[in-house]
Amino acid sequence: MATGGAEPYGREGLPLDEARQRILDALRARPTRLTTVTSEVMPLRGALGRVIADAVQAPADVPGFRASIMDGYALGQDCQPNAGDSWTVVGRSAPADPYQQTLHGGEAIRILTGAPLPEGAAWVLPQELIANQNSTIRLVRDASSNPWIRPADEECSQGSLLLAPGERLGVADIGRASSCGISHVNVHRRPRIGVLVTGDELVPPGEERSNGAIWESNSTLIRGMLERLGYPAVDCRLVADECHLLKQAILDMAASCDVLVSTGGVSAGDSDWIRPLMQKLGQVEFWKLFLKPGRPFAFGWIGDAVPFFGLPGNPVAATITALQLLWPALQILEGQQNPELLPRVHVRLATPYRRKPGRPELARASLDCSPDGQLLARIDGSQASSRIGSLQNADLLVEIPADSGSLEIGQHVWGQLLRRRIL
Ligand code: AMP
Ligand code: MG
Repeated sequence: MATGGAEPYGREGLPLDEARQRILDALRARPTRLTTVTSEVMPLRGALGRVIADAVQAPADVPGFRASIMDGYALGQDCQPNAGDSWTVVGRSAPADPYQQTLHGGEAIRILTGAPLPEGAAWVLPQELIANQNSTIRLVRDASSNPWIRPADEECSQGSLLLAPGERLGVADIGRASSCGISHVNVHRRPRIGVLVTGDELVPPGEERSNGAIWESNSTLIRGMLERLGYPAVDCRLVADECHLLKQAILDMAASCDVLVSTGGVSAGDSDWIRPLMQKLGQVEFWKLFLKPGRPFAFGWIGDAVPFFGLPGNPVAATITALQLLWPALQILEGQQNPELLPRVHVRLATPYRRKPGRPELARASLDCSPDGQLLARIDGSQASSRIGSLQNADLLVEIPADSGSLEIGQHVWGQLLRRRIL
């Protein structure tokens, strides 16, 4: 049931995947402040977690020379030796002190791990296989067919692509780039995020709580999660449900931030000003999600270049929608080619879960492993969107389809792992 441009899915709201696609398409189609601002050159170490703006190519072959991968002897030959063969030792090659001459047939040099192989040598024997007498060595038993040599371009060859534009730098990426001689990279600027927390009833924790008031937690929760995801907010404000105060705050923040995020005030109540203000100061692309938790959610713009994410007020709903919709959007805004989403796994339920068919749900669960190696998901306690305790110890968001009724122990479900890459 369509009810007009901003609410195409009527009372039900937009399914999560479609909402994400619409947001990403809208961001890719429209220039934002970030698309017009240049990138910055940074020392590699400081660029961990940032997104590459310009391709990085290998300046040379790495390691650049053939090296021994064992302590032993390099032979003046390129074919597999036989037990009983012997060679005359004519010198030594250490990593920082290579042997400079050419090796001939019947000759060998002592060689250390990582040391360059001299010309004429294409075989190494580990010292464990060698009997050594005066300056003669002898192979005491058959060696493997492995020549124990690291090729000159094992890691990369000159001109090959090390880092592609739009790639986010992990630990292994910067480690490998430094091994290839790269000291600086050009990375995209991070989005500057403004967080606007709304609600007349909210008081900062630590302050007296009058009747009906609640301690404010979204700024701690949402900013904490954004920080973990690599996007510290630069501006955070708590504003009452007063249209003119909210308008002023939005205009102020839009002047200095690349992205605005609000929590609360995005439903259709008397003091829900976020959508009318988004409409007035820019545009509402859509509002309302077909999701539990997280129905009241709006995406739009302030002016034509500042994306605005109106998250729900309930803390769990705000957290889940930020993770599902804001996080991928921030990655795209930062210039990442393909946004990272939470990895999905197939698990069995270790607890029953009571529900009625209705909205698709992302239930918070902890993970266990059964003795026979199966992943088990445990959904404990109330899944109310106001209960932050349901996020504690959550390893998994169990995906429950809209038409699903109650779930039983042992049932197979898909879940999104609340885990990210280390390397
Ligand atoms: P709203 O959509 O503004 O009506 O908010 C929905 C529910 O979330 C209300 O019960 C609010 O009190 C609560 N809520 C809104 N913002 C916050 C916040 N920053 N911290 C804790 N609870 C909040
Ligand atoms: Mg409110």
